[in-house]
Amino acid sequence: MSNRTLAIIKPDAVRNNKIGEIIAKITGAGFKIKAIKMIKMSKTSAQGFYEVHKERPFYAELVEFMTSGPCVPIALEKENAVADYRMLIGATDPAEANDGTIRKLYAASKAENAVHGSDSDENAALEISHFFSRNELLQNAC
Ligand code: GDP
Repeated sequence: MSNRTLAIIKPDAVRNNKIGEIIAKITGAGFKIKAIKMIKMSKTSAQGFYEVHKERPFYAELVEFMTSGPCVPIALEKENAVADYRMLIGATDPAEANDGTIRKLYAASKAENAVHGSDSDENAALEISHFFSRNELLQNAC
């Protein structure tokens, strides 16, 4: 699984009609899309996905934001996927993100920051399975 990562185009970027531009950035950087869907996360799903942050002061706000509208989870594949995708999206706070990164281009704030990216191979595997069944991933094997 070490060549995979989970991206999410978050509700702010979907509202701003940036799905296409963000996907073009991702595929332009050499990532292959293994599975993709557009969903509105339930509160339970968002709470589970961000369980690691449940003690953080912004947890409730984060769950509220992630359930505020549709989002687009994407399972991506590329050599060194986790690190390369984190580099492509930039720092959590767009004010600190490098020029040309997705968050620098499309994020408004540290909270509403356009995209998610897994932070380790282990979490990538867990996060991909949060959104995609084995079958959904296998159907896209080519
Ligand atoms: P990431 O790995 O770069 O996404 O950053 P983190 O794991 O630290 O945080 C997870 C997500 O929580 C971020 O992408 C933001 O959407 C959100 N977040 C981080 N810091 C804050 C904050 O101070 N306030 C709020 N409301 N949300 C935050």
